[in-house]
Amino acid sequence: MITDITEKVTPIAAGLIKQFDLYFDDVDISLVKFVENDYGKVTKFLAKCHAVGSLYEYFTGCCYIIEFACPIFNTLTDKQKEIVLLHELFHIPPGGTDPDNNMYMKLRQHTIQDFTPITERYGVNWQWKDFEAEMLGDK
Ligand SMILES: [Zn+2]
Repeated sequence: MITDITEKVTPIAAGLIKQFDLYFDDVDISLVKFVENDYGKVTKFLAKCHAVGSLYEYFTGCCYIIEFACPIFNTLTDKQKEIVLLHELFHIPPGGTDPDNNMYMKLRQHTIQDFTPITERYGVNWQWKDFEAEMLGDK
């Protein structure tokens, strides 16, 4: 089952885009939708960023859909969820929501495991259990 959670996620996403402004340039968050997809079983991925493409953009009014895979996504802490969200947002390149830009509705690929600003800020092991303690510096 797919649930539209755009209203809930947009303010959080907007906050992250503001924090990492340099990397997002002019991404228009109102052209991004967020859905929770319940696969009913554990999936190999936590989330995916889909570039919509012109045909579906016509019907959905958005350029990107970020999909969170449940139930596995809900096993994460709130902070981890936020980083997964940030990771997926990074798949939207600068200009990705601008029809006049050549990156319009394209996806940005990451290096090795994650995007550099995420590894710089949160380290490479943020998926693991000790991540929060590590990030707070109490470890
Ligand atoms: Zn990715």
